[in-house]
Amino acid sequence: MANRGKLFVISGPAGAGKTEIVKKLLEKHPDVRLSVSCTTRAPRPGEVDGVNYHFVSEERFRALIEEGAFYEWAHVHQNHYGTLKSTVQRELDEGHDLILEIDVQGCLQAMAQDDTVTGIFVCPPSRENLERRLRGRGTETEESIRVRLNNVASEVATAYKYHYVIIHQDWSDVPNALEIAADEVYAVIAAKRLEIENRRAFLDALSASLKA
Ligand code: 5GP
Repeated sequence: MANRGKLFVISGPAGAGKTEIVKKLLEKHPDVRLSVSCTTRAPRPGEVDGVNYHFVSEERFRALIEEGAFYEWAHVHQNHYGTLKSTVQRELDEGHDLILEIDVQGCLQAMAQDDTVTGIFVCPPSRENLERRLRGRGTETEESIRVRLNNVASEVATAYKYHYVIIHQDWSDVPNALEIAADEVYAVIAAKRLEIENRRAFLDALSASLKA
């Protein structure tokens, strides 16, 4: 029988590039699955219900909370986001390794309730890099940059609770930074697959056949 899949939660400050890293990882490794969350926020142009998110009303989201349907959920930027227990269960039962790309609160919840969850934190390489990216957008005031950097400081303070930290280098310093970061996330997934717990059945069978 196939091994049960493993659950990975990935988070990090906005602007650290976690979405691009996960996208690159899935392109290279279609065997890894990404969970589709529920959200109460409106779809952005081009987003498809059931693909990017399950878009639900505030009432429906509350009903799902009441039913205990969520593996984790959080309130982020005035909207609700949550991962369904049924999604997690189905993917893991089918033997797929599953990534939840969720906010810091959700990751901390998941890691606290289940010690088999692997937490991966994606970091920008430096304050200067993050500041440059925020200024580069040209839409932020000095005040909002200061607020954002403070928010990042409190998110980075939670990184110590994760199992792995990926530093997403700036592509102007490291041209294949995205590729490297995606490969590093995959290295974590590959290492989990090779753990003794996943190899026990194989080793038992091999040992038995050698003794026969
Ligand atoms: P966006 O609205 O830009 O798609 O996502 C906003 C934030 O919500 C991102 O940090 C994203 O990782 C997070 N998020 C997306 N889905 C979930 C989820 O199911 N649970 C939690 N806790 N956060 C989520």
